[in-house]
Amino acid sequence: MNSLWIDSIENKNKFKKLEKDISTDVCIIGAGVFGLTCGYYLVKQGYNVTILEKEHEIASKTTGHTTAKITSQHNLIYKYLIDSLGKVQAKKYLYANQEAIENIAKIVKDEKIDCDFERTDSYVYTRDKDELEKIRLERKAVNSLEFTSEFVTETPLPFEVLGAIKFSNQAQFNPLKYAYGLADKITKGSGEIYTDTLVQNIEKEGDYFITYTENNKVKSKYVILASHYPFIDRLGYYFLKMYQSTSYVIAVDTHGKTFDGIYINSEIPTFSYRFANYKDKKLLLVGGSDHKTGSKIDLSNAYKILEDEVRKYFPDCTVLYKWNTEDCISLDKIPYIGEFSNLMPNMYIGTGFNKWGMTSSNVAANIIVDKILGKENEYEDVFKNCYISIFPTSTISFKIKKILYLHFL
Ligand SMILES: Cc1cc2nc3c(=O)[nH]c(=O)nc-3n(C[C@H](O)[C@H](O)[C@H](O)COP(=O)(O)OP(=O)(O)OC[C@H]3O[C@@H](n4cnc5c(N)ncnc54)[C@H](O)[C@@H]3O)c2cc1C
Repeated sequence: MNSLWIDSIENKNKFKKLEKDISTDVCIIGAGVFGLTCGYYLVKQGYNVTILEKEHEIASKTTGHTTAKITSQHNLIYKYLIDSLGKVQAKKYLYANQEAIENIAKIVKDEKIDCDFERTDSYVYTRDKDELEKIRLERKAVNSLEFTSEFVTETPLPFEVLGAIKFSNQAQFNPLKYAYGLADKITKGSGEIYTDTLVQNIEKEGDYFITYTENNKVKSKYVILASHYPFIDRLGYYFLKMYQSTSYVIAVDTHGKTFDGIYINSEIPTFSYRFANYKDKKLLLVGGSDHKTGSKIDLSNAYKILEDEVRKYFPDCTVLYKWNTEDCISLDKIPYIGEFSNLMPNMYIGTGFNKWGMTSSNVAANIIVDKILGKENEYEDVFKNCYISIFPTSTISFKIKKILYLHFL
């Protein structure tokens, strides 16, 4: 079944297949939120950009099946980041993602993208007394990074929680409307988007890259691999550093009963909640039932877990949509952003968004565009941590791993 987002766009496919050889400044592989954000910023800088997308429609893979909560509250991550990388790096992660929320808000405003962008508060809650201490420690960790979060015991949710950590002034939107808005700005500027165009290989030839599609090739100075899971195994070894995790979403008509905010719980099973505009009403999106992609699972049971949960609070609700998709999970919970490999200068990647790709893709696009512009980016080093995780997490091992990465991958 299509997602609610995909159904919300009329006249989706406006793009053609690549049918000739071309040259461009930057070739971007993949037209999800990450590839399109890179394209948007590069076009603004005056670069010629070509985006190649294998599907018939843009943003129809993970971006078209997300829940699109825009937040720096990536579940309970900040205590973990402080313990593993130290406060300086943890603060950079937080500020990079906070900045991403403002960047997205700015794009929506400047470009007048009608994508249901709205500010809202974000909560990680628990109903399990064993998790409560984790929530309290997370709040302490977050506030030690000079960011104000609150510990609350009451939320707008239709059920009681034992405790929650609240980040104010986060956001949500319709990711497909946003993606089409970006695509419009790209193609009205110095960018081109080709769909039904599968990239099969990328080769370095002197100072240039040649990107091979089924029948044609694109010559460019820079390549950005925005294909979600990198389809090139050699050099980057991302298959050793990431796995995929599938999540399920149902969109439910609660017949006029709504609540504000975006939510995820800290315990397992995971439940995530937000409302989204749908025609003249609002539907409740309930996400969860996560599992490692490829593991044997009863699909109908994955949806039933979500439906049973929501019926406890909205017994008369009607399920209108069901969908599932996967995201790339990095071994150390930090996205991989920057050079694809030390041996391939000018080829960049952003992946391992850990189901928080709305802000992470914006962070990634800014880092990579700055690299192309030859500008320093203050957040770059947090996300460069791109190695095979064979050591336990600690500040010392962070450095060792970084050295290993810089020398061998
Ligand atoms: C169920 C679920 C809920 C989520 N909810 C949230 C949320 O609330 N907030 C949040 O921040 N994040 C969330 N995420 C994560 C977020 O949706 C993703 O991290 C993000 O959409 C990834 O975007 P992307 O552009 O990297 O990938 P994609 O959207 O998958 O785009 C990659 C594109 O590359 C194309 N491609 C691949 N290979 C090739 C090739 N060889 N040639 C040409 N094109 C190719 C694909 O067709 C695809 O269109 C969620 C993820 C899941 C699974």
